[in-house]
Amino acid sequence: MTATLIDGKAIAAELASENALRAARLRDAGTVPGLAVVIVGEDPASRIYVRHKALACEKAGLASWVHALPADTPQERLIGFLHALNADAAVHGILVQLPLPGALDARAVIGAIDPAKDVDGFHYRNVGALFVGEPALCACTPWGVMKMLEHEGIGVEGKHAVVVGRSTIVGKPMALLLLNAGATVTVCHSKTTDLPSLTRQADILVAAVGRARMITGDMVKPGAVVIDVGINRLQDGKLCGDVDQESVAKVAARLSPVPGGVGPMTIAVLVANTLRAAEKAAGIAAPRETRFA
Ligand code: NAP
Repeated sequence: MTATLIDGKAIAAELASENALRAARLRDAGTVPGLAVVIVGEDPASRIYVRHKALACEKAGLASWVHALPADTPQERLIGFLHALNADAAVHGILVQLPLPGALDARAVIGAIDPAKDVDGFHYRNVGALFVGEPALCACTPWGVMKMLEHEGIGVEGKHAVVVGRSTIVGKPMALLLLNAGATVTVCHSKTTDLPSLTRQADILVAAVGRARMITGDMVKPGAVVIDVGINRLQDGKLCGDVDQESVAKVAARLSPVPGGVGPMTIAVLVANTLRAAEKAAGIAAPRETRFA
């Protein structure tokens, strides 16, 4: 078998067009949707991510503000800053770029964001809504994976989905989304014994670990759908995922590659989440034809 690649870039471009239409509709109704991104410290990778997020907003016709704070910003000051953004009616989405430096407590900081503006979907309230299966702002990467599966006509109900990784950003929300969609879900992590015996049972396998090419063809069930979330920088500077594309492509039916898979979806979903927050604040329903809301 040779897997057909899932073109995340193309799906994200469709989502970006839809985002632009939703933003235009909001502007026509007198609301300029806006995202405030807060970055603390000088981490170069974080700065690049933040730039990409702001650029994606601008392209879709949203306002965006990047607030760069020094690495030694005290927690109370950061939280006070977030409270001011919560109170600012021009700001519909707030994102604090993680990881935070030093002694800053990420949970307390995220907890200070108004859940209605928490476009990363990390606030306890939004995590709780996901847990009980109610629509809310949901973590961008796993939500992007669900939209990708939907776009490709890959049904989830009744399938055995195996998620490798249990972080609060990717693995756990991914597992809950799949569970809510009717999959039988197994979650694996660093303490899992005999990982290959579990991954080989997966109809849908999601790898979110951060270990270059750790999922190899012999760990995959023939005909499976494999979604690679991992982003790893190799010594030669190139990017690769958690999935060994060469061997897995010989076994799987569908494969979301790195680069060009989940990565582009994540930012497009962030913009969509901001639009959703803005639509809700303005009391405007998403257009009926919206596929990614
Ligand atoms: P993380 O917080 O470091 O979590 C990694 C998870 O992998 C943990 O649950 C860990 O288990 C598990 N793990 C580590 N070694 C393992 C092993 N040998 N076997 C099985 N599980 C193992 O990372 P993350 O934030 O979830 O991100 C995961 C990857 O996705 C990274 O490469 C990241 O860069 C990428 N990512 C991509 C996007 C995107 O937009 N494409 C977005 C976010 C993240 P324990 O819990 O037991 O430690």
